[in-house]
This record gives sequence, structure tokens and C-alpha cells, in this order.
Amino acid sequence: MPSKVLVRDLSKSFPLRKGKGYSTLKVIEDLSMSVEENEFVVIIGPSGSGKTTLLKLIDGLIPPDSGEILIDGTNRPHPGPKLGFVFQSFRLMPWKNVMANVTFPLQINHVDRRTASERASKYITEVGLSGFENSYPSELSGGMQQRVGLARAMALEPEILLMDEPFGSLDAQTSELLQVELLKLWQFKKNTVIFVTHNLDEALLLADRIILIGARPSRVEEEIEVPFRRPRWTYDVRSEPEYPVLRRHLWTRLRDMVSKSGTFPGVNVGPAVSAPMAGEEWTPRLGDRS
Ligand code: ADP
Ligand code: MG
Repeated sequence: MPSKVLVRDLSKSFPLRKGKGYSTLKVIEDLSMSVEENEFVVIIGPSGSGKTTLLKLIDGLIPPDSGEILIDGTNRPHPGPKLGFVFQSFRLMPWKNVMANVTFPLQINHVDRRTASERASKYITEVGLSGFENSYPSELSGGMQQRVGLARAMALEPEILLMDEPFGSLDAQTSELLQVELLKLWQFKKNTVIFVTHNLDEALLLADRIILIGARPSRVEEEIEVPFRRPRWTYDVRSEPEYPVLRRHLWTRLRDMVSKSGTFPGVNVGPAVSAPMAGEEWTPRLGDRS
């Protein structure tokens, strides 16, 4: 069986403003990776390394300069109902209520009105928002708005769910709750998930496999299988013996990439720095929170 998502030798540059003209910013260069059906893959990399760009390329929102992306072994229409995208900023339409925000993408994908509203109701309930169908985004907390974002993507019943730091701007408690809810939704639906985060604990809780991408121009630096048994909400993965070992390894790799990239020139690269424990803040940010 072909991989669900196969990325082969992908490259992408952007024009970079320089004085009155432009130079070229190579963001992704010869990046190859594959994701299997029903797999939950988490992508980690330094800030500005092209993670959002990679998800947009996979979604077909932007074209690659070279290389290819195969879904189920073929080039597919861009973007299509097979893929759902959950953005970091919630991107809800402020003038539409929760129900209308969730049904909107279904309508543009020609799902008939009745099916659309049935499906929307179902997923609004699944993300814990029943009773809020008529509320407007401004009347909801950040956590609730991101639940709407999740319901909107899930209602498309996508085979592949692309998630770009979806919980990055939420407080720790809310994001932990949503991580567990996402795990439950995924365990039940078993779609393929590609999830970007800068949060190592989030990565270790969610992923079957973690793909580390390096600083610009980025490619895959390392892939790590996460060994913890599922379901993972029934116990504390952080007390597994492999947990601190994996976390320290990831932290060290990232710290080295961040300091090599020069993104944070002040970062101490000395060998004696130890990784913070789970739950502690790590000073250099790995992802944008904007
Ligand atoms: P990440 O999500 O890993 O933080 P991004 O994929 O958002 O990184 O961006 C990678 C680099 O590409 C950044 O330096 C950013 O400025 C640049 N970039 C992203 N999108 C565009 C664009 N549309 N035009 C020009 N530069 C862009
Ligand atoms: Mg990003």
C-alpha cells in the first residue's frame, strides 16, 4: 500500500525584500518524508524553519518550486476534501456563529445543507460545545474558539488532518485538556494526522512518530518512534522510564539547531545546560505564537 502522504525532494523559496529589490529565501530544500495511514506524526523544528510552509504545501495552498507530494500514491486535486487544516490562529469568521463557521467549509465542498448541519451538530457536540451553536466567536474563550476550529476541520471528515500549533496560543491547562480530547477523537476516527508543535511534552504525548526538521533551508534531521502504549489518556506518559530520555534528546537537538541557525544568537550552547523538566518553560521559543 502506498504511504498516505509521501513528500519527495520538496523545495520552496520565497522572495525576500532587500532594499528596493528582492533576494531569495530558501525555506525548504530537498525535504523527504512519508506518513502512513492512521499515523499520528508530529513535526518539530526551530521557529522560521518552514513548518507552516510545509503544511501549506501538503495542503496544496501553495505550490512547491520542485519535488512532489503524493496522497495515496497519486497527485491529488489541490486542496481537496481529503485534507483538513487547523490553523494556529483560529481563523473563525467573526460575523458567523459557531454553527455557520462549522458548516461553511462543508457548503463550499458541496455537502447538502441537511447533511452539513447534522454533521456540524455532531462535531460541535464531540468537541464539547453543544449549547454554543448560536454564539459568535467574540463570545467564546480562546480554548472554545479552537474547539470550533477543530470541529470545523473534523466535520469535513478529512482523511488527513493538518494541524499547525493549534494549541500554541492557549494556556497550559486548556491546551492539556484539548490534547486529550484530540487523542480521543483520533483514537475513535483514526485519520492520519500531521501536527506541528514547539511543545516537546505535547509531541511526546500525541505522536506515534516525531519528525525533527532543521533550521532553514530545512530538511528532515531525525525521526523518532514514540514507544508509549495507547490510549495515553489513561495514564501519565511522563512517568514512563523512556520519557525523560526522549525529552532530553529532543531538547538537545533543538537547542543545537536553534543556536546553529543564529535565530537566537544569545542562546548558551555550553555542554552543561540540562533540559528543563516537563512543564517548565524553555526560554528560546521554537515556534511562533503570533
Ligand atoms: P515556521 O512555521 O517553521 O515558524 P514558516 O513556514 O512560517 O516557519 O516560515 C518559514 C520562513 O519563510 C520564514 O522566514 C518566513 O518569513 C518565510 N515565509 C513564509 N511565508 C512567506 C511568504 N508568503 N512570503 C515570503 N516569505 C515567507
Ligand atoms: Mg509556523
